[in-house]
Amino acid sequence: MTGDATLVVAMDGPSGTGKSSVSRRLAARLGARYLDTGAMYRVATLRVLRAGVELTDAAAIAETVAALPLSIGTDPSHEVIELDGEDVSGEIRGDAVTKAVSAVSAVAQVREQLVDLQREITAMAGRIVVEGRDIGTVVLTGADAKIYLTASAEARAQRRNDQNIREGRGDDYAAVLADVQRRDTLDSTRTVSPLRPAADAVLVDTSDLTMAQTIEELYRVVAQQLSATTGGPR
Ligand code: C5P
Repeated sequence: MTGDATLVVAMDGPSGTGKSSVSRRLAARLGARYLDTGAMYRVATLRVLRAGVELTDAAAIAETVAALPLSIGTDPSHEVIELDGEDVSGEIRGDAVTKAVSAVSAVAQVREQLVDLQREITAMAGRIVVEGRDIGTVVLTGADAKIYLTASAEARAQRRNDQNIREGRGDDYAAVLADVQRRDTLDSTRTVSPLRPAADAVLVDTSDLTMAQTIEELYRVVAQQLSATTGGPR
């Protein structure tokens, strides 16, 4: 499974399932590149916030994002996320962007533009784990393996809150849970590319799994999906 020239793994699911860490580690294990599409929507959102555009003005959002000087790396062990040459990897995870990103990612032109870029990066990479919300359903419908990572809202909020505590961003489980639920609702009820599992995705619930157990399970699921479509492990 690690020797093939091309291997595209689509990894979708809601926020807080540990999806980013898990996808990065799975990519490293598969000898593949890694693309964080959420980071791309976050950079677009940062651009919109800096331009002072109203989040209700879809046309102005589309215009602001149209020529986005975004640079995103695909090395699973080294994150590079730049806006106009500036490292914004920290700022895009902050509160302001997190609160605004659902509004920006709901704009159809923004999605079209970023989806085109995601497809280009995937084609160039050959072997890649692509992580997001609509990768298996819209962006890469022909992916070799599709996984939908889930966990209960409570488990996801607990993990995010623990991470906030570790990173000195405070301890407020109730507020984190409310934010997880708010984003789930926004992401799954929007008209453009709502969050849902692809019909051919394998659901993996990480509520009661450690990181190591999750990686093992995903490696097994990818191997299984490959043997189901190609007649044997690659
Ligand atoms: O994964 P992350 O939490 O960084 O994603 C931030 C936001 O970007 C999501 O809440 C969602 O609104 C949007 N997103 C999206 N489609 C993707 C990836 C992320 O709409 N493929």
